[in-house]
Amino acid sequence: MKPLFTLLVLLISLTIMAQIHTDKYATPIGELKVTYITHASVMFQIDGKTIYIDPYTNNKIDFSQFPKADLLLITHEHPDHLDPKAYMKILTTKTKVITTKTVAAIAFPHAEVLANGQQTRWEGIEITAVPAYNIEHKRPDGQFYHPKGIGNGYILSFGTFRVYIAGDTENIPEMSHLGKIDIAFLPKNLPYTMSDEQFIEAAKRIHPEYLYPYHYFSIDRDALRKALPKEIILK
Ligand code: ZN
Ligand code: ZN
Repeated sequence: MKPLFTLLVLLISLTIMAQIHTDKYATPIGELKVTYITHASVMFQIDGKTIYIDPYTNNKIDFSQFPKADLLLITHEHPDHLDPKAYMKILTTKTKVITTKTVAAIAFPHAEVLANGQQTRWEGIEITAVPAYNIEHKRPDGQFYHPKGIGNGYILSFGTFRVYIAGDTENIPEMSHLGKIDIAFLPKNLPYTMSDEQFIEAAKRIHPEYLYPYHYFSIDRDALRKALPKEIILK
């Protein structure tokens, strides 16, 4: 039975891998490949380099099948974003890690720490940490799921081509001042991040050219498409 089981696991993992889709975008510093993996996990590839945000197995993704990480960005310390079962498979001794103070203290003592509003450069890519927090949704004990100032969203600037990965956040006022955004990853699910209405309101203010919903448990793409401005391309 064991070989059959192994074959089954292999088939399931190949099926999942086949469903993962990569989009390509032209940027001033070369072609950018964007792969949405699962939940809040995204992989970017440009100029032979691989960047991950919040790699997460989600009980189905085998990161040993993925390229090694040149750069790893983590938004915050929750287990669906800081997942050793995922990142241990892609880290090398050369991987650069950029994250929050809290995540660095837990898992990456040698990481470069960015607070909200801070910026750094890596291999010609500008990386800005932006706020990500709840303004409405709280735990039963009255604390926000994501208090202001703890987690990061990130803006990656590939020349003038700018990608916003929002992290776990609601439609916060700071989203009105992000500047031109070509691609936005915005979270959608309750109670941790945004309702559909908040998601649409955020998308209208950010007004990206391409919009990827992420972090969702379920999604009604037709309803979202109808509610969004026509010129925003829903991925
Ligand atoms: Zn979270
Ligand atoms: Zn989360």
